[in-house]
Amino acid sequence: MTRLGDSWAVRRDARWQGALGVLDQVRRAPGITRADAARRLGLGSGSATEIVARLRSLDLLDEAPAPVVGRGRPTTSLLPHPRGPLVAAVEIRYEEWRCALAQLDGRPETVVVQRHDGDGEQVIAQIAAALRDLRRRHGHRVRAVSLAVAGVVRHGRLAQAATLRWGEVDLAEILPDRDLPLAIGNDATLAGLAEARGGAGVGADTLLHLTVEVGLGGVLVVGGTPIVGASGGAGEYGHLPFGDRSLRCPCGARGCWDLEVDGRALARHLDADPPADPRAYARTVLTAAASGRDTRAAEATRRVAVSLATGIAGLVNVHDPDEVTLGGLAVQIRTVAAAAFDEAYLGGLMISRRSAPTPLQAAALGEDGALIGAAAAGLDLVLSEDGLNEWAAQNRSPR
Ligand SMILES: [Zn+2]
Repeated sequence: MTRLGDSWAVRRDARWQGALGVLDQVRRAPGITRADAARRLGLGSGSATEIVARLRSLDLLDEAPAPVVGRGRPTTSLLPHPRGPLVAAVEIRYEEWRCALAQLDGRPETVVVQRHDGDGEQVIAQIAAALRDLRRRHGHRVRAVSLAVAGVVRHGRLAQAATLRWGEVDLAEILPDRDLPLAIGNDATLAGLAEARGGAGVGADTLLHLTVEVGLGGVLVVGGTPIVGASGGAGEYGHLPFGDRSLRCPCGARGCWDLEVDGRALARHLDADPPADPRAYARTVLTAAASGRDTRAAEATRRVAVSLATGIAGLVNVHDPDEVTLGGLAVQIRTVAAAAFDEAYLGGLMISRRSAPTPLQAAALGEDGALIGAAAAGLDLVLSEDGLNEWAAQNRSPR
């Protein structure tokens, strides 16, 4: 098991240094021209040509002629090689799982989607079969597997998953032979990684990503690396005690913030029974509140917005991020109860922060964020010194 994002910022071995720089540029901007990549890396055009030729000979990059701009010299666009390495990115969500393949550009193409009925061991066996099938079809090109899961991940195991209603599950069993590098992360963590690297958080060195679905999850991403803690379980922001101490959270603790910001909270404020599907329930209430004709729905939404915004302000005071990205229902809650949300956010910030409040942005990658983040975490494993050494060794031997 590898820690998420580990190889993103590590010191690179001299053998691969220039090559990893060029590959990073292609990951950040697929189709970037060789001339632009060279400029961003401070490489001479001779070195860039040499590095790209080497990456082509290793089936890592391909080149296509790029349109000549103005009086510029002819250059090429850098693209993933059609026989290049692949990452299998898997996401386990409430009621379905999906598996995708990504090339070096990190864009996952979904190849399998399957509904599930909440039997964890069965889902793990189904995913293991799908991965076996992908490896049969793509052979040595599949270099790493990465998994995003809606639950608490610790030491590569699913430690707690109230949403999935699963007990403890050994997620590494999706690769029973343990013969490929495997990255495993919480879905909100990986969605935050994706926002930081290629979404609404690009340019923020310290990014706080928060998302509301059933409960609230998130991650702090610093320099492109998610802060996952000692066992991989960090970022459980929904279990901060920002809620009502008389309420017991399914996690076992009292007064969790989780219970104040989602469909369960809206139902309590509307004196309704706990909803079977809190997410669908929340969407219905938020739509009613947005219509302007349902004052009770609007008041319930206002209360949820105040709790959400106050908590976010507290986290901004703690983490000092450059930016906060909001995913899932958080965006709609903020939009529907904008005035109450903004007032609570500003009111929760320390005075020293109020003149320039940390900006809050809607996440850009939507429902695909976790899968894109999983692909990125998998590519981090492939585009490491070890990953490239292994790829080069295999590509030199007859296949
Ligand atoms: Zn809790």
